[in-house]
Amino acid sequence: MTRVLDAVPQPRARSASVEVVVVGGGVIGTAAAWQLARRGHEVVVLEKAELCHPRVSPHGAARVYRQGCTSPLHVKLAVESLQRWRELEHETGASLLTLTGGIDHGDPKRIAAVARTLAAHDVRHAWLDRDEAAARWPGMQFDGPVLHQPDSAGRLRADQAVAALTAAAMGRGATVRYSTPVEQIEVLGRDLAEVHTPGGSIRTRRVVLAAGAWTAGLVGDLVPLPPLQVTEEQPAVFPLVGGTPSVPTELRWPTFVHHTGPDDGWPGGVYGVGVPCAGVKVGFGGAGPRWDPDGTDPAPEQAQLSRLQDYVGEFLPGLDAGAPTRFRCAFVSTPDAEFLLERTGPLVVAAGFSGHGFKFATALGRMVSDLVGDPDPESRRAPASSR
Ligand SMILES: Cc1cc2nc3c(=O)[nH]c(=O)nc-3n(C[C@H](O)[C@H](O)[C@H](O)COP(=O)(O)OP(=O)(O)OC[C@H]3O[C@@H](n4cnc5c(N)ncnc54)[C@H](O)[C@@H]3O)c2cc1C
Repeated sequence: MTRVLDAVPQPRARSASVEVVVVGGGVIGTAAAWQLARRGHEVVVLEKAELCHPRVSPHGAARVYRQGCTSPLHVKLAVESLQRWRELEHETGASLLTLTGGIDHGDPKRIAAVARTLAAHDVRHAWLDRDEAAARWPGMQFDGPVLHQPDSAGRLRADQAVAALTAAAMGRGATVRYSTPVEQIEVLGRDLAEVHTPGGSIRTRRVVLAAGAWTAGLVGDLVPLPPLQVTEEQPAVFPLVGGTPSVPTELRWPTFVHHTGPDDGWPGGVYGVGVPCAGVKVGFGGAGPRWDPDGTDPAPEQAQLSRLQDYVGEFLPGLDAGAPTRFRCAFVSTPDAEFLLERTGPLVVAAGFSGHGFKFATALGRMVSDLVGDPDPESRRAPASSR
């Protein structure tokens, strides 16, 4: 049965009972709900905001998908997630992931490590020299040799992806309640917890905490977590030089990662992805100021945008550096940039995706579902997490 309950605040009622409560309707919570519902679990997703509220991470039209990682674990997860994104497209009829090809350049040691991992997993790739690459992708300049991945990188339509995951979960019987903030979670036993919202409480066997930047505040001292650092990132979409964006042109841009950073005078590494009908989104990775998710919104940081414009002027002459459309959203990072995916008693925590969780979401949903269903352990870290 499919239900969406638009919650109106009500007096606290007696506890209802549901097998699994997922806190957070972002990409991770909805991916988990889809996998859980596929396996026949009874699932309710509680989301404090409306779908695609501007302050949550899914905001925006595009996210990078790529298998080019230095960690073998991440390559495997990216390969699995590609298959599951395709399953989701098949199940919902949505077109979500376009493989545009991807390129890496910059720090030679780092891209050599990416190439080695790709080779070990039989992912097709090739080296181009910088002039060859500049001729092939007019509008881009490169810092040394270029590692091209022709068919294992591309663009995810972020907002549509979360909408499709939600629809697929609901189509399999999950319930999604918007405007339903979880205020508190109580652990009552190894297989029992109670989740409190302004509209009432729910008793449940498992709680999946997929609350992004708000996860640490909700977990409190129920589970010892590593410190989660929240930064406010400000990527921007730059239109193509030459006026009206042309859909075919911007969508011919590969996704790209420039492995650079403070040693080269930039605040961080740089990523980019074409955005349909708008231009190319470019951002520094994890270079934003600290952000308190429960505090007031700071004014947008001008310095970050100025450096991004400098970067575009130097390396991406095909884009108009003077006409950015800025976005703001949160990176939630662990100290070692690995994912936080673990279960303690009835609680499964899925957070700290350190700026690269979106591409893996469909595989991470499967891993959350494994942790929820595992009947044995009191406490377990997901086997695929190398944290
Ligand atoms: C600028 C930027 C660019 C990025 N680019 C990429 C990229 O190119 N490729 C990639 O793979 N990844 C990328 N990422 C990372 C990726 O977007 C995130 O890892 C991912 O979106 C995190 O999803 P989430 O579901 O964990 O968190 P969120 O999307 O933040 O969702 C958490 C949800 O929980 C809800 N919530 C919070 N507290 C409560 C509560 N008390 N009760 C109920 N609901 C609650 C929130 O409203 C929110 O909807 C990027 C991130 C940023 C910020």
